[in-house]
Amino acid sequence: MSSNATILDGKLLARLLETDLKQRVEKDAAQYGRKPGLAVILVGNNPASQYYVRTKEKVAKRAGLKSFDTRLPEDASFEQVAEAIKSYNQNPEVDGILLQLPVPRHLNSDKLLDLIDPAKDADGLHPHNQGLLMTGKKGVRPCTPLGTVKLLDLALSGVDISQKGVEVSKIPEADLSGKSAVVVGRSILVGKPVSLLLLDRNATVTLAHSRTDDLAAVCKKADIVVAAVGVPGLVKGDWIKPGAIVLDVGINRLPDGSLTGDVEFDEAAKRAAAITPVPGGVGPMTVMMLIYNTYLNYNNAMGKS
Ligand code: NAD
Repeated sequence: MSSNATILDGKLLARLLETDLKQRVEKDAAQYGRKPGLAVILVGNNPASQYYVRTKEKVAKRAGLKSFDTRLPEDASFEQVAEAIKSYNQNPEVDGILLQLPVPRHLNSDKLLDLIDPAKDADGLHPHNQGLLMTGKKGVRPCTPLGTVKLLDLALSGVDISQKGVEVSKIPEADLSGKSAVVVGRSILVGKPVSLLLLDRNATVTLAHSRTDDLAAVCKKADIVVAAVGVPGLVKGDWIKPGAIVLDVGINRLPDGSLTGDVEFDEAAKRAAAITPVPGGVGPMTVMMLIYNTYLNYNNAMGKS
């Protein structure tokens, strides 16, 4: 069986959304007299975190945002980090605050995240915003789940983003009435919020996890499979219903240094209608959604929406 699946190019979609946002930011900055601002706080020397922060700041800059940057040493006290958060809360030029996780072990990340003004939450991880998601009300949505659902919208729209002149901001939000979705993984960061976003779009959602019995049977029934576990190739190709959409959130590093997802990509692509690659699928969309959330917060601050 050969693959006919559409490969959902998250890297390209993120780039196109970035170009669209850049134009909006330019127009808004001229009208309101300032650009949206993103503040990033990095504590310690974790190389992966340093890499993520650099990537986020690079994308923010390209989209025309103003960047604020606080780097604190590995042994920074809770009070030092709290002070940085509070000062950004007060700064009228800052619309999004990102505390890069994980923070060093002596710091309580939950207590630090709680200090972020929910209206300046860029990650959508503040309990206030999680509550708004739970109740289906407007709020900042977590970046990875939001990016995942935007790739699903792309899949269901049938829009070919490799064509010139595509207006990505016009890709409609899909109504998932009558569709069954399985989310594998129930973390606060990905699994739970993505299942709520799908539910909000009227999908019939099953949230599977490490204690689920017969995961294969559960996945085989699904029109949409979201894998967010962190186990390479956990979701087998023959678990995918023909014509299903597969969104692979997993990022796993193999012994040879390469990255792979939670889904057996080659086999799944033979059956799926559309599938995200790893790397180049959900990952770049996560970064873009951080910038997008900051822009939405800016709109709110300006009384635009
Ligand atoms: P996590 O460890 O917090 O949660 C993993 C979940 O998987 C748990 O709910 C657990 O119940 C479930 N699980 C574990 N083993 C299982 C099994 N054998 N069968 C079924 N379910 C099982 O992880 P997380 O933070 O949700 O991240 C999941 C994956 O997504 C990781 O690979 C992570 O690197 C990746 N991730 C990617 C992005 C991105 O931008 N693409 C963002 C965040 C996380």
